[in-house]
Amino acid sequence: MSLYVILMGIQGAGKGLQAKRIEEHFGIPQVSTGDLFRAMRARTDELARKVQHIMASGQLVDDDTTNAIVVDRLSQADAQRGVILDGYPRNQIQAAFLESHLAEMGAHVGAVLLLELDLFTAFKRAFGRVSAADGSSYNYYYNAQGVHFSWAQDPAGNFPPRLEATVVGSGEPLKRRPDDASADAVIKRIETYLETTQPLISYFETRGIVHRINADQSIDAVSADIKRVLARL
Ligand code: AMP
Repeated sequence: MSLYVILMGIQGAGKGLQAKRIEEHFGIPQVSTGDLFRAMRARTDELARKVQHIMASGQLVDDDTTNAIVVDRLSQADAQRGVILDGYPRNQIQAAFLESHLAEMGAHVGAVLLLELDLFTAFKRAFGRVSAADGSSYNYYYNAQGVHFSWAQDPAGNFPPRLEATVVGSGEPLKRRPDDASADAVIKRIETYLETTQPLISYFETRGIVHRINADQSIDAVSADIKRVLARL
């Protein structure tokens, strides 16, 4: 039977990382709408440019575009045994759409894993994160060893200044996700989560499928909690 799991949690709760681990352990792919939208960066058509603009401001992409991209992804060959949804659904319309789409396929949402994290930690995890070309990641607040961080004046003179990072020794500049680089955009995403995504928790709770997991633990401890929940399904 196919397994459809929703990973929910505020930005910085570690959804992407944990989704990768579930993918490896249970053999079902991670479907991240954020990643699907980021992959559009290589395109220059009007839809792709609109999506980039929305993402940079920390707002949500419209539901029709988002639902369509998910339907397309779920129809692909590697998704036939189920998927781990990361960053979707993000509001009531998307949740209702997903449930009816899965019902048409003769499937249902097996579990909602809610990664719980306090708001200030969530802010620091997103705003402080930088990554190297080889995929290793660092954080200004939590994991700054071997990295030189500096605050640079925003080119447009906006407040707050920009956080820049380079590897000590090689001088390799480290990258930040454009939507993490602006404190305003990070805060906007937190607000959007509280206003539109958090209410989904009670929606799924009425179906008895929400499992709460403490995301303020080591990556391995969170993975172990998730495996325990999924093994019971
Ligand atoms: P994420 O990587 O999940 O934080 O997503 C990055 C950005 O992509 C979000 O801030 C939104 O602009 C957009 N996005 C991702 N998933 C969705 C979704 N389910 N609905 C609408 N917009 C989304």
